[in-house]
Amino acid sequence: MSLFQHIVFFASVADLRDLPPPLGAEIAFAGRSNSGKSSAINALAKRKRLAFIAKSPGRTQQINFFSLGDARYLVDLPGYGYARVPVTVRQLWKSLISEYLQTRKTLCGLVLILDARNPLTVLDKQMLDWFLPTGKPVHVLLSKADKLNRQQANIALKNVAEVLGKFYPKCTVQLFSSVSKTGLDEAESAITAWFCPGLAAASKIKNPRLKGSKPGAKRLK
Ligand code: GDP
Repeated sequence: MSLFQHIVFFASVADLRDLPPPLGAEIAFAGRSNSGKSSAINALAKRKRLAFIAKSPGRTQQINFFSLGDARYLVDLPGYGYARVPVTVRQLWKSLISEYLQTRKTLCGLVLILDARNPLTVLDKQMLDWFLPTGKPVHVLLSKADKLNRQQANIALKNVAEVLGKFYPKCTVQLFSSVSKTGLDEAESAITAWFCPGLAAASKIKNPRLKGSKPGAKRLK
């Protein structure tokens, strides 16, 4: 049974003081605007419009919580890198996100969505730099993989894996497409393993490099 089966919108937060009480477990999703973050959340939830709720006017700069039940939350962070956002809003975003990532006790992992055609921009690295000192794991989805042919996708995966392996150990990376559903099972397994280590162990998932993963996820050190 999918962990995302009963996912529902829970809350929007623009100020860290308004965060829900730190009970249970959270997994955050981050990525540049237009990287495919909402589509990835919708694909995982097997819903069409769930994460687009978070895109409605007024909520784009907020942290949006979705409840999975059993005190588990998927946390949709505001997309970044949108050129037309005023400097003041960008600064607000920086303090909100960096503090959330660095201090939230119930946060157990970060899913970072990178467009497979333009991965690891300066702001993507900034996210990793904020989060990795926490020692918590990061799983990278190289999104829109359907826009690349097999060879290009493999090269993108290899290049990103190399950079992550060098500078950001504790990261895993895989190809992903919300359109073709490439990598959907792998992503779901990686997230399930963070939320429910017992469940992952029971199904013998040691890491997200799973059967049928073509060209496959890479685990780095
Ligand atoms: P967000 O701003 O990061 O939440 O990105 P969205 O999920 O809204 O996606 C931005 C655009 O990319 C939309 O036009 C989506 O339809 C498209 N898109 C998202 N994921 C994919 C994908 O896996 N493949 C393709 N071909 N397009 C995608």
